[in-house]
Amino acid sequence: MQSGKIAEIWTLLGTVPDPEIPAISVVELGVIRDVKFLNNEFIISVTPTYSGCPAVKTFQDDIKTQLNQNKIHNFKIEIVYKPAWTTDWMSNETKEKLRKYGISPPEKFAQCPQCSSTSIELISEFGATACKSLYKCKDCLEPFEHFKCI
Ligand SMILES: [Zn+2]
Repeated sequence: MQSGKIAEIWTLLGTVPDPEIPAISVVELGVIRDVKFLNNEFIISVTPTYSGCPAVKTFQDDIKTQLNQNKIHNFKIEIVYKPAWTTDWMSNETKEKLRKYGISPPEKFAQCPQCSSTSIELISEFGATACKSLYKCKDCLEPFEHFKCI
Protein backbone atom coordinates (compact mmCIF):
# COMPACT_ATOMS: atom_id res chain seq x y z
CA MET A 1 0.00 0.00 0.00
CA GLN A 2 2.81 2.42 0.85
CA SER A 3 4.49 1.77 -2.47
CA GLY A 4 1.30 2.91 -4.24
CA LYS A 5 1.37 6.02 -2.14
CA ILE A 6 5.01 6.62 -3.05
CA ALA A 7 4.08 6.43 -6.73
CA GLU A 8 1.30 8.93 -6.07
CA ILE A 9 3.76 11.27 -4.35
CA TRP A 10 6.10 11.08 -7.36
CA THR A 11 3.17 11.92 -9.62
CA LEU A 12 2.22 14.89 -7.45
CA LEU A 13 5.82 16.10 -7.32
CA GLY A 14 5.84 15.89 -11.10
CA THR A 15 3.19 18.62 -11.13
CA VAL A 16 5.22 21.04 -8.99
CA PRO A 17 6.91 23.47 -11.37
CA ASP A 18 10.42 24.76 -10.95
CA PRO A 19 9.81 28.28 -9.55
CA GLU A 20 12.25 29.77 -12.00
CA ILE A 21 11.37 27.78 -15.09
CA PRO A 22 7.68 26.84 -14.89
CA ALA A 23 8.01 24.79 -18.08
CA ILE A 24 9.71 22.00 -16.15
CA SER A 25 8.81 20.28 -12.90
CA VAL A 26 11.02 19.81 -9.87
CA VAL A 27 11.22 16.11 -10.80
CA GLU A 28 12.44 16.96 -14.30
CA LEU A 29 14.92 19.39 -12.81
CA GLY A 30 16.36 16.39 -10.97
CA VAL A 31 16.24 17.81 -7.45
CA ILE A 32 13.98 15.10 -6.04
CA ARG A 33 16.37 12.30 -5.20
CA ASP A 34 14.19 9.82 -3.37
CA VAL A 35 10.83 9.20 -1.77
CA LYS A 36 10.69 6.56 0.93
CA PHE A 37 8.46 5.52 3.79
CA LEU A 38 10.05 5.30 7.21
CA ASN A 39 8.54 5.33 10.73
CA ASN A 40 5.08 6.22 9.53
CA GLU A 41 6.09 9.10 7.35
CA PHE A 42 7.27 9.73 3.85
CA ILE A 43 10.73 11.15 3.49
CA ILE A 44 11.27 13.20 0.40
CA SER A 45 14.96 13.71 -0.28
CA VAL A 46 15.73 16.92 -2.09
CA THR A 47 19.08 18.09 -3.35
CA PRO A 48 19.14 21.84 -3.92
CA THR A 49 20.43 23.11 -7.23
CA TYR A 50 22.83 25.97 -6.88
CA SER A 51 23.59 26.67 -3.26
CA GLY A 52 21.95 29.87 -2.16
CA CYS A 53 19.45 29.70 -4.97
CA PRO A 54 16.34 31.38 -3.52
CA ALA A 55 14.17 28.95 -5.47
CA VAL A 56 15.05 26.15 -3.05
CA LYS A 57 12.83 27.61 -0.34
CA THR A 58 10.04 28.33 -2.81
CA PHE A 59 9.82 24.83 -4.19
CA GLN A 60 9.89 23.27 -0.74
CA ASP A 61 6.82 25.35 0.09
CA ASP A 62 5.23 24.39 -3.22
CA ILE A 63 5.84 20.69 -2.50
CA LYS A 64 4.24 21.01 0.94
CA THR A 65 1.22 22.80 -0.49
CA GLN A 66 0.77 20.30 -3.28
CA LEU A 67 0.92 17.27 -0.96
CA ASN A 68 -1.28 18.87 1.69
CA GLN A 69 -3.89 19.67 -0.93
CA ASN A 70 -3.90 16.00 -1.80
CA LYS A 71 -4.40 14.99 1.81
CA ILE A 72 -0.85 13.81 2.36
CA HIS A 73 0.37 15.25 5.63
CA ASN A 74 2.74 12.66 7.07
CA PHE A 75 5.87 13.59 5.21
CA LYS A 76 9.01 15.57 5.66
CA ILE A 77 11.46 17.07 3.27
CA GLU A 78 15.03 16.13 3.86
CA ILE A 79 17.72 18.22 2.24
CA VAL A 80 20.59 16.14 0.93
CA TYR A 81 23.73 17.96 -0.11
CA LYS A 82 25.78 15.00 -1.21
CA PRO A 83 26.17 14.10 -3.96
CA ALA A 84 25.77 17.66 -5.17
CA TRP A 85 23.16 18.38 -7.78
CA THR A 86 24.46 18.47 -11.29
CA THR A 87 22.89 19.46 -14.56
CA ASP A 88 23.72 15.90 -15.72
CA TRP A 89 20.64 14.80 -13.80
CA MET A 90 18.50 16.56 -16.34
CA SER A 91 17.23 14.27 -19.05
CA ASN A 92 17.54 15.11 -22.74
CA GLU A 93 13.77 15.45 -22.79
CA THR A 94 13.97 18.11 -20.07
CA LYS A 95 16.73 19.94 -21.95
CA GLU A 96 14.51 19.95 -25.02
CA LYS A 97 11.70 21.52 -22.95
CA LEU A 98 14.10 24.23 -21.81
CA ARG A 99 15.04 24.96 -25.41
CA LYS A 100 11.38 25.25 -26.39
CA TYR A 101 10.89 27.58 -23.43
CA GLY A 102 13.66 29.77 -24.83
CA ILE A 103 16.51 28.83 -22.52
CA SER A 104 19.72 27.35 -23.80
CA PRO A 105 19.97 24.08 -21.82
CA PRO A 106 22.97 23.14 -19.68
CA GLU A 107 25.36 21.83 -22.24
CA LYS A 108 29.00 22.55 -22.73
CA PHE A 109 28.34 25.26 -25.26
CA ALA A 110 25.49 27.72 -25.23
CA GLN A 111 23.42 27.81 -28.37
CA CYS A 112 20.65 30.17 -29.44
CA PRO A 113 17.37 28.43 -28.56
CA GLN A 114 15.59 30.37 -31.31
CA CYS A 115 17.72 29.68 -34.36
CA SER A 116 20.32 27.18 -33.05
CA SER A 117 23.15 29.54 -33.94
CA THR A 118 26.39 29.18 -32.02
CA SER A 119 27.47 32.65 -33.06
CA ILE A 120 26.63 34.26 -29.76
CA GLU A 121 28.06 36.76 -27.33
CA LEU A 122 28.03 36.76 -23.57
CA ILE A 123 26.18 39.78 -22.21
CA SER A 124 26.33 38.95 -18.53
CA GLU A 125 27.65 36.12 -16.41
CA PHE A 126 24.41 36.33 -14.44
CA GLY A 127 20.95 36.41 -15.94
CA ALA A 128 17.72 36.83 -13.98
CA THR A 129 19.21 34.39 -11.47
CA ALA A 130 22.71 33.23 -10.64
CA CYS A 131 21.96 29.87 -12.27
CA LYS A 132 21.86 31.37 -15.71
CA SER A 133 23.99 33.62 -17.83
CA LEU A 134 22.73 36.03 -20.42
CA TYR A 135 23.71 35.81 -24.08
CA LYS A 136 22.77 37.51 -27.28
CA CYS A 137 22.54 35.72 -30.59
CA LYS A 138 24.56 37.42 -33.32
CA ASP A 139 22.38 35.91 -36.04
CA CYS A 140 18.80 36.54 -34.92
CA LEU A 141 19.84 39.20 -32.38
CA GLU A 142 17.61 37.67 -29.71
CA PRO A 143 18.91 37.74 -26.15
CA PHE A 144 18.60 34.44 -24.33
CA GLU A 145 19.55 32.76 -21.08
CA HIS A 146 21.86 29.82 -20.82
CA PHE A 147 21.39 27.42 -17.94
CA LYS A 148 24.89 26.99 -16.56
CA CYS A 149 26.42 23.59 -16.54
CA ILE A 150 27.54 22.39 -13.15
ZN1 LIG B 1 19.45 33.11 -32.80
